[in-house]
Amino acid sequence: MRINAHWQAPSRTLLGPGPSNVPPPVLAAMALPTIGHLDPVFLELMDETMDLLRFVFRTENTLTFPVSGTGSAGMECAFVNLVEPGDSVVICVHGVFGERMCDVASRCGAEVTRVDAAWGKAIDPDDLRTTVAAAAPKIVAIVHAETSTGVLQPMEEISAIAHEAGALLLMDCVTSLGGVDVRLDDWGVDIAYSGTQKCLSCPPGLAPISFSVDAEAAMDARQCKVASWYLDVSMIRNYWGQERAYHHTAPINAIYGLREALRLVAEEGLEARQARHSRQSRALQAGIEAMGLGMFVAPEYRLPSLNTVRIPEGADDATTRAYLLRRYGLEIGGGLGPVKGQVWRVGLMGASCTEENVLFFLLALEQALKAQGVKVGSGVAAAQRSWDRETE
Ligand SMILES: *Cc1c(COP(=O)(O)O)cnc(C)c1O
Repeated sequence: MRINAHWQAPSRTLLGPGPSNVPPPVLAAMALPTIGHLDPVFLELMDETMDLLRFVFRTENTLTFPVSGTGSAGMECAFVNLVEPGDSVVICVHGVFGERMCDVASRCGAEVTRVDAAWGKAIDPDDLRTTVAAAAPKIVAIVHAETSTGVLQPMEEISAIAHEAGALLLMDCVTSLGGVDVRLDDWGVDIAYSGTQKCLSCPPGLAPISFSVDAEAAMDARQCKVASWYLDVSMIRNYWGQERAYHHTAPINAIYGLREALRLVAEEGLEARQARHSRQSRALQAGIEAMGLGMFVAPEYRLPSLNTVRIPEGADDATTRAYLLRRYGLEIGGGLGPVKGQVWRVGLMGASCTEENVLFFLLALEQALKAQGVKVGSGVAAAQRSWDRETE
């Protein structure tokens, strides 16, 4: 065994599909002394964390807390608590994470009916309406911000269709929470989960989740026990609620970090933070187009926190990403599934979403493409004009 006693994490600029760069105060909070999960000081910190989560989710839901695990644990927690074997569930699929929902829900015993949209497109509400009428589902599930394609799904009509059919609405907001407008109560979302490492800019490891009163009632009306002991909310809520009963040891230091990351979100303000994500994304898009490259998604559905750029002819996906990482310590993501090798996924999430990073990315990409003999223009002047226009 050869182990380097002096190992250090390299410094990276994280502009991929997550994780995003973590602000120093969040890392510092996570390095504070570990205390007990029933220590009164920690119980107070849990209350603050829940209040902050309700603030970012824009909800009054009492049952709002972080699941121990990454965003996918939030997804499992949502389905495993609501689905009983044989339940009808309609799942909207317009990318990898909708596919993952189908897998998770069917493992819970759901009768899954899919509503598909092409990669790079949003779900058509009319398709959902037809499917819901036939399937009479208990739950309609959808991804708000599809990180695999860079599509932002408009939610209001989807919500109306689900509720008119008497279904609960389940929403994945992993890549929207803290970066893009998310409104659980206004949109009538019954179950929502997210992750910490995207627009909240906290290390991965927790999944904020929220259940409406109706979702809680549906869980309480279950005939059979939740198949997962670890994710059973009927027990976990006794730890996060008034009883403070031990269920599993909370990841203490991860919760320190989340609470600090959420405090930073509240300090900036949700509107200001959303405006920053939109502004930097528009500048990045202007730069990309000035370089002669194209965006993958139609303008009205573009997700500010995850920008999909078409890979130009003559450029190699892996070569470009390796060049950016080795030469500049800059990480971007490649395409998944049917768009593998066709797009790059450029995240502008949370603390990574800055003017400097937009300029850095545009210059670095130009260099990486020229190194492969691809003819491209310069993007930085167009990005600058985009910022100038917005300050006029
Ligand atoms: C990242 C992501 C997930 C999964 O989160 P992990 O933290 O990787 O488990 C789920 N849904 C969406 C939309 C995501 O972007």
